[in-house]
Amino acid sequence: LAQFAYISSHDLQEPLRMVASYCDLLKEDYGDKLDNTGREYLDFAVDGAQRMRALITDLLTYSKIGQKDLELSRVSVDEVLGLTLKNLEMAISENGAEVTHGPLPSLTCDPGQLGQLFLNLIGNGIKFKGDAPPRIHVSAERDGDEWTFAFADNGIGIDQAYAEQVFTMFQRLHTRTTYDGNGIGLSVCRKIAERHRGKIGIEPNVGGGSIFYVSLPEGGTS
Ligand code: ADP
Repeated sequence: LAQFAYISSHDLQEPLRMVASYCDLLKEDYGDKLDNTGREYLDFAVDGAQRMRALITDLLTYSKIGQKDLELSRVSVDEVLGLTLKNLEMAISENGAEVTHGPLPSLTCDPGQLGQLFLNLIGNGIKFKGDAPPRIHVSAERDGDEWTFAFADNGIGIDQAYAEQVFTMFQRLHTRTTYDGNGIGLSVCRKIAERHRGKIGIEPNVGGGSIFYVSLPEGGTS
């Protein structure tokens, strides 16, 4: 399945580029010759192409994580978080989000994959916000030779009945019109945790929201 996802998403990129760029050309060169309905149809086509691009990119990310050997090194989680916050700068300011953290350790892991995990979990904490501006707190606790990271948010929360299901690919609890997305982010997180021989799970946060827990071995997978 991982190989199929990798090959098909690779091969789909080229025809998709073609559809997207001809839609752009059509809009640029003939946009003023179309009536409102025609322009609306074209906008739907562009939107579809953009969503497909996001889907292909996320599928590729998922399959690469499954296929590539881990590139283990000593990683400062503080630095990983700093980089994540830079990548999320726009989402943070647009949503008035605040991300705080406790002391974070160094551990042996694949830094690219840890960055992806932080990006997905903190990004979700911002995206699935409730009425109040998003507040996310990242903390770490050591238990034997394992570190457990907690990502606590004040968002809409997840019913415990779905706490397993959301880690399955394409499983979403909302329609795209309520919250944008394609349901791949958490399956990527689970894959990253598993590749490091770690675990991921969710618990409700006191006072609303969720806490995502990720446990990773301190010394990498070996
Ligand atoms: P996407 O974000 O593209 O929908 P994910 O795999 O990241 O896909 O998440 C799957 C589903 O889990 C989401 O659609 C949402 O219903 C739920 N979810 C994920 N993170 C959170 C969160 N922090 N708070 C509430 N619900 C969440």
